[in-house]
Amino acid sequence: LNMGVFDINELIRQRIIKFEDKINKKNINVNVVLMDKKMLVKGDRDRIDQVLTNIIDNAIKFVNQGGNIEIKTEIKEDRLLVSIFNDGPPIPKEDIKYIWDRFHKGDKSRTKGGGTGLGLSIVRQIINKHNQTIWVESGEKGTKFTFTLEIV
Ligand code: ADP
Ligand code: MG
Repeated sequence: LNMGVFDINELIRQRIIKFEDKINKKNINVNVVLMDKKMLVKGDRDRIDQVLTNIIDNAIKFVNQGGNIEIKTEIKEDRLLVSIFNDGPPIPKEDIKYIWDRFHKGDKSRTKGGGTGLGLSIVRQIINKHNQTIWVESGEKGTKFTFTLEIV
């Protein structure tokens, strides 16, 4: 890892701009709720960018046309939490523990083409290398991925 200090809020804003075309094409409503103006965290910026890219890409892919995505940062117990929520069909309970595995893509009916099933295994590897955690909650209302970062 190439550790450094960066503003996670700025990175999130930049990342969303890069997805603007996809967001508009699907008519998705994106709500961004960022802690403060500036939120300095410790980590490998490029790798955390990769994590954000993967999770936001999934959220856009699996949300319904005209659906909602919420991206949020908050402080909890001296860690920063980044969460990406999308409403839309949940991940089936029996699939949840496998989504982090390489090449797992859920059943065919839910696979939205194009994916390799590699994204989340890489995401988890990156977060683990940072000694941080990532988890998913999925249910009727939608799916939320949350990961932690070290505050400077
Ligand atoms: P890929 O995007 O190539 O399919 P990922 O590793 O990124 O692979 O995701 C693995 C699987 O987890 C996806 O194929 C999908 O079944 C499920 N998944 C991931 N994110 C979401 C989400 N936001 N909503 C619903 N299902 C999801
Ligand atoms: Mg993916």
